[in-house]
Amino acid sequence: MSELAYPYEAPASQALFDRAAAVTPGGVNSPVRAFRAVGGTPRFMVSGTGPYLTDADGREYVDLVCSWGPMILGHSHPEVIAAVQDAVARGTSFGTPGEGEVALAEEMVARVAPLEQVRLVSSGTEATMSAIRLARGFTQRTKVIKFAGCYHGHVDSLLAAAGSGVATFALPDTPGVTGAQAGDTVVLPYNDLDAVREAFAAHPGEIACVITEASPGNMGVVPPADGFNQGLKDLCSENGALYVSDEVMTGFRTSRAGWFGVDGVVPDLMTFGKVMGGGFPAAAFGGRADVMAHLAPAGPVYQAGTLSGNPIATAAGLAQLRLLDDAAYAKVDAVSKQIQGLVTDALTKEGVAHTLQNASNMFSVFFTDRPVRNYEDAKAQESFRFTAFFHSLLADGVYLPPSSFESWFVSTAHDERAVQRIADALPAAARAAAEATA
Ligand SMILES: *Cc1c(COP(=O)(O)O)cnc(C)c1O
Repeated sequence: MSELAYPYEAPASQALFDRAAAVTPGGVNSPVRAFRAVGGTPRFMVSGTGPYLTDADGREYVDLVCSWGPMILGHSHPEVIAAVQDAVARGTSFGTPGEGEVALAEEMVARVAPLEQVRLVSSGTEATMSAIRLARGFTQRTKVIKFAGCYHGHVDSLLAAAGSGVATFALPDTPGVTGAQAGDTVVLPYNDLDAVREAFAAHPGEIACVITEASPGNMGVVPPADGFNQGLKDLCSENGALYVSDEVMTGFRTSRAGWFGVDGVVPDLMTFGKVMGGGFPAAAFGGRADVMAHLAPAGPVYQAGTLSGNPIATAAGLAQLRLLDDAAYAKVDAVSKQIQGLVTDALTKEGVAHTLQNASNMFSVFFTDRPVRNYEDAKAQESFRFTAFFHSLLADGVYLPPSSFESWFVSTAHDERAVQRIADALPAAARAAAEATA
């Protein structure tokens, strides 16, 4: 790539990145933040207000990442901040039960019909890890089916992607995960019910659960085909396995009741994170009361957490959920549609082959003219066009996820001014995508 690939410098961010690299592997605390997929200097953000982020160089961006989903009311929402200030004034952690965690659990249970009981944890990874343990403990079976391209956090047994073909046993995706840990995971192509049927037939009485993103957003946005989730649920029921719907990304984002509110398929267990924490580390898993009754101290499956149900995090999450009424979702959906339209128009005008896919207000662009139904399809896109598109938008003050395999996120705070900035930046970005070479 020429030096023109990165249209402007970010000296203060670069200085911070250099300092970070000395004390932190790769300079970041979560890999995607390092911009490895797109190159250039990751922006170190110093503040966020509404739909905007400001970086260490004093540059403002319209934020289309929203902390990877949680900031659905925009940054520094006054009522969320007030709830946090009120909670923090009373102390930060007690290691005892408290009312805040009860209130947050009640709010979640009231919104999501299949959620009879929940257990609060501190990250989505913990939620899926605990749900898998519970599913195994409840069914007394070992194997787990997951789908290639679905991300469930960095749980050892779930860091496995597909080999080619159907029903291959997973090889670990990363050093540090043993064959034994990955070997109980069966990885299948997404949106392929026949593959799931065959896997159940191949392993009778061995599958503890099927875990799936309720609507995948971690290979770009690839919604379930009509009937796919219901088909999974039915196959699980027929085979004595649990259907675990990972709503860490979609929960309380794609509707008041998350993706369950969209497709109505009833899971046995569900996992949550992101939006429910209001920008703090709060996550949860829950579902059928008879299954949850197996969890300690009610039952034998152990699970715990020093900071689980933290009073600040639960206050932030509760404040955010209480503000997320039908009007709020209507607003997020509308602004999402508007931005999707602008992106499609700009790319079409420049003749750039693309497929824009959405799952309610989550959306992403694939640089291919074919529909993307699974991870193989997603990987077939021309990612080099995304790189050019990304850097052009970044230079013009629009902050996209720094990878073409991620959902874009908007908030209730994305107003006309923010949308206009995106509209102004898109023509040059579309041109850059059109002109990009591999
Ligand atoms: C983000 C995410 C996770 C992991 O959550 P963390 O809080 O990052 O551990 C799990 N599942 C899905 C679907 C996610 O999007």
